[in-house]
Amino acid sequence: MLLTMVQTAYIVAAVLFILALAGLSKHESAKVGNMAGMIGMVIALGATIAESLTCRAPAEGEIAHCEYAMARPMTALLLFAAVLIGAAIGVWRARTVEMTGMPQLIAILHSFVGIAAVLVGFNSFLAADTHNAAHLVEVALGVLIGAYTFTGSVVAFGKLSGRMKSKPMTLPARNLLNLLVFLVSVGFMVWFVVAPSVVPLIVIAVIGFALGWHMVASIGGGDMPVVVSMLNSYSGWAAAAAGFMLNNNLLIVTGALVGASGAILSYIMCKGMNRSFISVILGGFGEGAGPAIEARDYGEHREIMADGAAELLKTAKRVIITPGYGMAVAKAQGPVAQLTQKLRDEGVDVRFGIHPVAGRLPGHMNVLLAEARVPYDIVLEMDEINEDFDDTDVVLVIGANDTVNPAALEEPNSPIAGMPVLEVWHSDNVIVFKRSMAAGYAGVQNPLFFKENTQMLFGDAKDRVEDIIKAL
Ligand code: NDP
Repeated sequence: MLLTMVQTAYIVAAVLFILALAGLSKHESAKVGNMAGMIGMVIALGATIAESLTCRAPAEGEIAHCEYAMARPMTALLLFAAVLIGAAIGVWRARTVEMTGMPQLIAILHSFVGIAAVLVGFNSFLAADTHNAAHLVEVALGVLIGAYTFTGSVVAFGKLSGRMKSKPMTLPARNLLNLLVFLVSVGFMVWFVVAPSVVPLIVIAVIGFALGWHMVASIGGGDMPVVVSMLNSYSGWAAAAAGFMLNNNLLIVTGALVGASGAILSYIMCKGMNRSFISVILGGFGEGAGPAIEARDYGEHREIMADGAAELLKTAKRVIITPGYGMAVAKAQGPVAQLTQKLRDEGVDVRFGIHPVAGRLPGHMNVLLAEARVPYDIVLEMDEINEDFDDTDVVLVIGANDTVNPAALEEPNSPIAGMPVLEVWHSDNVIVFKRSMAAGYAGVQNPLFFKENTQMLFGDAKDRVEDIIKAL
């Protein structure tokens, strides 16, 4: 009876996870989607704890967790305690993390899924008395993908949080090296399945750790968004592999959902950044960076003060705001929303242009603007707005840099070459809000800052936007 209820709860949770994904695909339904995901997770955790109280014959290779009557309540109690501790840490981190710290938090969370898959793999191999080939393949794959996800995510965490340099590590013949190491791991997997022992499994884990580290370390800063979503996908496959090893259907379904949706998101982002999907999977990003373009002399830049910017805005009919990571750092979204409202009240047509990788997380800017109550219908994607800059009086580039860098289109040797960008320089006037002439995340200088129709408004973006509001 309890087992039937548990299985039913798993199906309900799986449906709620699918509804969560569907909800998260649109601004309007994102909150409902999030709620569906949270309810699904509570049901899934409750069902998992309840399942530990049930007893069924273990499948081949599975650990018999209910051999002794006393073990069952103790397992449930331990699981409950683990859930409570995990939930407490989760609530604390969610309340304290800055929006700008989300990407690294997500990266480190992926690493937990990876290491969990490795541990489950070793546990399920060592604790079972007999093994069939299918189980051994599950263990080997779970350990390899888990180990890869773990170190890859740790490196992504290091790069995103600034603890590691974002420049790609370029070992000679690294693609060949990756391929060779991968082939060697396949060899060890065959050994493990044919003659099961812990030695090849340890080697598989070590290879996975090394591959994950090397592949993400060789990816350049500008390409990190795709890597983050790719690691998200890998963490899903690692969870699905753990589900197979634990014979847990919900974990298989959830892992597959995360794995597939992460892969689709990566594919969409690759298209958005004009990168090859295959080269991301193989870790071949960040290559081809020619002579450092920072060394170039682009001439002098021009500066403007907040009063001058306000004067320009007073006479403008059409304004586009292109926010970037700096808006998040400055927490300027509130004043930006106020400025937007003020200009709209004066009859100015104000819209937002959002680059797919603006900020440090897919959708980062959309979330900030939605929180600041900027109407959804004036927030447009890059493809929807890129043609309109020609017909725009003033563009306010608020804390964006790489995503408005013409070098992506004009300099074939640039590390961001080929990435589509917001072509803000086609408008009559561009005002760039930033604190200095420093480069953006990809570490390349931005020729936009030196164009004739561009003026730099230096200082913290929040302060400067507030100054403009006062001056208006
Ligand atoms: P960038 O990181 O290119 O530039 C942000 C700019 O904001 C900097 O030049 C900085 O200049 C400025 N800035 C920082 N703080 C402030 C402040 N308080 N006030 C005013 N300006 C400030 O941002 P973009 O959004 O244009 O580009 C995103 C980059 O991040 C891309 O390279 C993308 O590939 C990468 N990335 C994106 C991810 C995603 O999923 N979206 C994930 C990981 C990386 P200064 O210091 O002079 O003020």
